[in-house]
Amino acid sequence: MQIQEHSSLRSLNTFGLDAVARYFARVHSPEEARELLMDSRWRDLPIRVLGGGSNILLTGDLDGLVLRNDLGGISIVSEGPDSIDIRAGAGVNWHSLVNFCVYRNFGGLENLSLIPGQVGAGPIQNIGAYGVELQEHFVELEALHLRDLTLVRFDREACRFGYRDSIFKQELRDQFLILSVRFRLDRHPVLRTGYGAIVQELESMGVGEPSVQTVSEAVIRIRSSKLPDPSQAGNAGSFFKNPVLSTEEFRQFQAEHPLVAGFPQQAGQVKVSAGWLIEQCGWKGYREGDAGVAPTQALVLVNYGKASGLQIAGLAERIRDSVLQRFGILMEREVNTW
Ligand code: FAD
Ligand code: NAP
Repeated sequence: MQIQEHSSLRSLNTFGLDAVARYFARVHSPEEARELLMDSRWRDLPIRVLGGGSNILLTGDLDGLVLRNDLGGISIVSEGPDSIDIRAGAGVNWHSLVNFCVYRNFGGLENLSLIPGQVGAGPIQNIGAYGVELQEHFVELEALHLRDLTLVRFDREACRFGYRDSIFKQELRDQFLILSVRFRLDRHPVLRTGYGAIVQELESMGVGEPSVQTVSEAVIRIRSSKLPDPSQAGNAGSFFKNPVLSTEEFRQFQAEHPLVAGFPQQAGQVKVSAGWLIEQCGWKGYREGDAGVAPTQALVLVNYGKASGLQIAGLAERIRDSVLQRFGILMEREVNTW
């Protein structure tokens, strides 16, 4: 295993931000990960786990170890009449895993097509899109503690999944390396086409009876036409989470702002579109130097070339403050700041 010193992370994060890791290494197996983590050089230094780099904001150089996870492999671990369990190495590309399932007609993950990043990062924020969240098909994960090297299994309850959230973004932040994740897929899936433009897209594709494959294809088409491509303009997807209000708070808010869309959640809560709030404050398409807000989706902050992480963070703070001042709603960052 090669350990690099003073290694640039620019090509390893989708914002395209330049930051240097004091130490950098790739691990391809749990054994390699253990061997690396036993090294005393980073005993008193921070250790960060890097996946596909599509949900991080690098605000400066990192004085410690950055461990890039390259643990591969997808296998079917059990098959029943109604469901199939598969296990994927945490370093597997997320969309490759979706394709593995879609190709075999295993249902469940098709609405999560084309989300960038790796399998191991999926549970960190309980990735979600088009009305489906990872937790719905999650069975368990295996993780290695970065300091005491214990191997721990987390079932769904232990992960404490929430809206774009889990225990790994809260009290266990930066404490574990997720090694593998087990999912349960459906042989007879109930397809979810009621969200956004999926139905219209299926119609324009000439699909009468949708399948796992055609729903995946529809999601891919919508995403490709709407979301800024990080290879064209650096970004990390949604920068903020959609705020969740109580039903009463939402009712009051809607009385003052009748055009706001609210999406009822469980337990008397209503989700408000953060993109709408930001747009109302006039930020959509805004640009200062190379830092800006995507013209097609106000929730996405963009590095047009040479912006620094601090410039992006500064812009994000001003956006958050203006939304707070105008609407009294505090938006929380979805992106992980390093
Ligand atoms: P990274 O950015 O590398 O890491 C994110 C966090 O997870 C970091 O804190 C890191 O330390 C931790 N981490 C990563 N791997 C591991 C591991 N093996 N063990 C422990 N910790 C780990 N997200 C959605 O939920 N839905 C979407 O629809 C969506 N669309 C996106 C579209 C675009 C264009 C972009 C750029 C991003 C989008 N995202 C979306 C955000 C992002 O793709 C996901 O959050 C993804 O899961 C991040 O994966 P990653 O491997 O790139 O993680
Ligand atoms: P969109 O479909 O234009 O919707 C705008 C917002 O309204 C979304 O944030 C979505 O919440 C909410 N919404 C729309 N229809 C809804 C419904 N029927 N029920 C509940 N909520 C609804 O959003 P988009 O930007 O094109 O993204 C499409 C999907 O991809 C969304 O699910 C989004 O979360 C996901 N995505 C996520 C990221 C990321 O980085 N996290 C980046 C790109 C896209 P939700 O976000 O809760 O779904």
